[in-house]
Amino acid sequence: MKKRYNSAVGWYRERFGARVQKVAVNAGFTCPNRDGRVGTGGCTYCLNEAFNPSYCSVDKSVLQQIEEGIAFHAVRYRRAEKFIVYFQAFSNTYAPLEVLERVYGEALSHRKVVGLVVGTRPDCVDDAKLDYFAGLASRGVHVQIEYGVESCYDRTLAHVNRGHTFAQAREAIMQTSARGLLTGGHFIFGLPGESREEMLATAAIVSQLPLNAVKFHQLQVIKGTAMEAEYALAPDRFVRFGLRDYIDFFIDYLELLSPAIVVERFIGEVPPRYVRRTEWGLLRNVEILRMLEQRLEERDTWQGRKWSDIY
Ligand code: SF4
Repeated sequence: MKKRYNSAVGWYRERFGARVQKVAVNAGFTCPNRDGRVGTGGCTYCLNEAFNPSYCSVDKSVLQQIEEGIAFHAVRYRRAEKFIVYFQAFSNTYAPLEVLERVYGEALSHRKVVGLVVGTRPDCVDDAKLDYFAGLASRGVHVQIEYGVESCYDRTLAHVNRGHTFAQAREAIMQTSARGLLTGGHFIFGLPGESREEMLATAAIVSQLPLNAVKFHQLQVIKGTAMEAEYALAPDRFVRFGLRDYIDFFIDYLELLSPAIVVERFIGEVPPRYVRRTEWGLLRNVEILRMLEQRLEERDTWQGRKWSDIY
């Protein structure tokens, strides 16, 4: 049955004709919003360990992490024969070009690796780096540059100490897309000071960006972050979603989103030990995805249903 949203599984199947699995790797890059070049405290919600799978360790080479990642996923995804290496932790273009060439060359030397997803900040790319990735793409490598955009509102970006503006994110995405590279954007719903209406209004802005894929997640207030302290002091500044409530909110958003954009993720998945309350219980992502699909059926709606009303 055709899905009611533009799914990543369908996208990869179309591109590769087979099941493709992502393998996360930590190549030891850092972040300019932590080391002082842009800022020192980092984004107020950030605790990078919370997003890093256990087999990712900078003590291991990139190739070793790929081997271990493939073995880790083999248990659940036995049919996967092709792999895309996901450089997720910190800012994976924040290093001189020679370092990027060495790291990404090592990943692509693995015989099962067919592509790269490179997570980074909009202020960590330049012409030379994008040209390097475009060169890989022109040789048939799947290269997706995934930008942390997080919000379309500059006041929110400033408040959470992102250290860049929405205009910078838009420019980076446009420069990337103009080179024929695949682009991704990462967004958070529930950042302090944003109302539901303001979040929904961003669907039109996101739809106009040259993005191939997007990832969303609900804000999770991670233990030990500056945001945890802010939330304790001013919980009213935050829209907090219950699970069913979030699913309905996200469907409202999907209706407004361009059907051409692949939705790779719509919820976050921080391990329970990093949050004080597991507000949604201990449901697995796959169960929540099933709830989304069921609710789309019940509401008889789909991604982009209202998008064509706008444009
Ligand atoms: S840019 Fe990314 S790694 Fe750096 S502080 Fe923000 S969320 Fe953390």
